[in-house]
Amino acid sequence: MIPEFDHPTYRLAVAQFDQAAEAMNLAPNLRERLKSPQRSLVVGLPIRMDDGQVRVFQGYRVQHDSARGPSKGGLRYHQAVNLGEVAALAMWMTWKTALAGLPYGGAKGGITVNPNTLSNTELERLTRRYAAEIFPLIGPDKDIPATDIGTTPQVMAWLMDTYSQQVGFSVPGAVTGKPLAIGGSLGREEATGQGVVYVTLEALRKKGLALEDTTVVIQGFGNVGSHTAKIFSEAGARVIGVSDVTGGIVNPKGLPIADIVQRHRHGVSFQDMNVGDFLTNDELLTLECTVLIPAAISEQITVHNAERLRCRILSEAANGPTTLDADAILQDRGVFIIPDILANAGGVIVSYFEWVQDVQRFFWKEDDIRERLHEIITAAFHRTLGFAEEKKTTMRIAALMSGIDQVAQAHTARGLYP
Ligand code: GLU
Repeated sequence: MIPEFDHPTYRLAVAQFDQAAEAMNLAPNLRERLKSPQRSLVVGLPIRMDDGQVRVFQGYRVQHDSARGPSKGGLRYHQAVNLGEVAALAMWMTWKTALAGLPYGGAKGGITVNPNTLSNTELERLTRRYAAEIFPLIGPDKDIPATDIGTTPQVMAWLMDTYSQQVGFSVPGAVTGKPLAIGGSLGREEATGQGVVYVTLEALRKKGLALEDTTVVIQGFGNVGSHTAKIFSEAGARVIGVSDVTGGIVNPKGLPIADIVQRHRHGVSFQDMNVGDFLTNDELLTLECTVLIPAAISEQITVHNAERLRCRILSEAANGPTTLDADAILQDRGVFIIPDILANAGGVIVSYFEWVQDVQRFFWKEDDIRERLHEIITAAFHRTLGFAEEKKTTMRIAALMSGIDQVAQAHTARGLYP
C-alpha cells in the first residue's frame, strides 16, 4: 500500500477489495491499479476568520477511477478527515456507482474541520476557497461533488457559484445536492434515507418478516439517519432507538419520530425530549431489534461489539460502518447484512437524476424521481442477492464483485494508455 493513504478506513476498503478480487479472480494488473486512486489533490486553504486572524485548513479531493464516466462523490466536513479516509470513501463510490449502473466513477472530497465551530461567513469563505483550489479537477464532465457528512445544500450552492464564477456562466451540473432554486432535484435531500428504506423492505420480505412487527434502531441523526427514521416510521415500522454524537434514546413502544425530528432540528437534545430512556451509542448498537441501521461514521461495529449485536438485519446507511473482523462475526451469527455500497446508494442515484436534469435543462416530477429510485435500487438489491446465492457468498462480497466487474470490463475495453 502506498504510505500516503495509510489509514484504518483505507485499509478496510482495500481489505474488502482484496476479498472480492480474490473471489472473482481479478487480473493482477487491474488489482494493482484499482487498489489506489487515479488522482489525488491536497490543498492548503488559508481563511480569514471573523476575528481577522488567518487560519490554514487542509482540503482533499481524490478521484479513485473514471473509466466508466466522470467521477462522482460527496464532500465531507469533519475534524477527522484526512487523505486516507477520503481515498477509501472515493474507492467505495467507484463500486457504488458501478453496482447501481450509473455512468460514473468514484471520487470524494473533504476538509479537516468541525463545521459547527465556524460562523456562516467563515464556512462560506472556506467553501469558496476550497472550490477555487480544486477547480482544475472538477466540472460536470470531469468530477461532480455532492453533500456528505457536515455539508449542506447551502455549501453546494457556494461551490456551484464559485465554479460558475470561474467559467463565467452558470453550471448547475457541476455539483449535486443543491437547493432547488439553482437546479437541485426534488427528492435529493431524503434520497439516501429513502433508498435505505427501499432495500431494507426487500430484505424484510426476503426474511419473511412483517413490517408491523419490525423494530428499527438507528445510529446517527444527520441527513441520512433522520430521513431514514421518518420514512420508516411513516411506512409503519416501530422506530425504538435513535442517537447522535451525544448519545441516544430508546423506547420499546416506539418513538414519536416526526416530533423528534422537529425538536432535534431546533437543537433540543435527545436527553431533554422526555420521550424515552437515554443511553450511550454503544448501548444503542446492542439493542434488540429487527433492523439496525448505522447511519453515522465508519468503523462503529467492531470486534468489541459484534458478538453483542441483537438485530436480524444490518442495513449499512453509513459508509464503512463495519470492520472486516466484525463482518465475519456477524456472518457467522446469521445476521443479514445489506452492505453500504448498496444500502446507501439512494443518495448518489438521485444525484445522478439531478445531474441529468441539470445537463438536459429538463426537470422531473417528484413521483418520477421516487419511482426511478425505487426501480434502480431494488433491482440492484435483487441482482446482488441472486449473485450472492449463485456464488454462495455474502451480500457484501457479491455487491463488491458486481461493482468491480463493471469497472474491470471498462478498463479492459479501453485498454492501457499509452
Ligand atoms: N455522499 C454520498 C455518498 O456517500 C452521496 C454522493 C453523491 O451524491 O455524489 O454516497
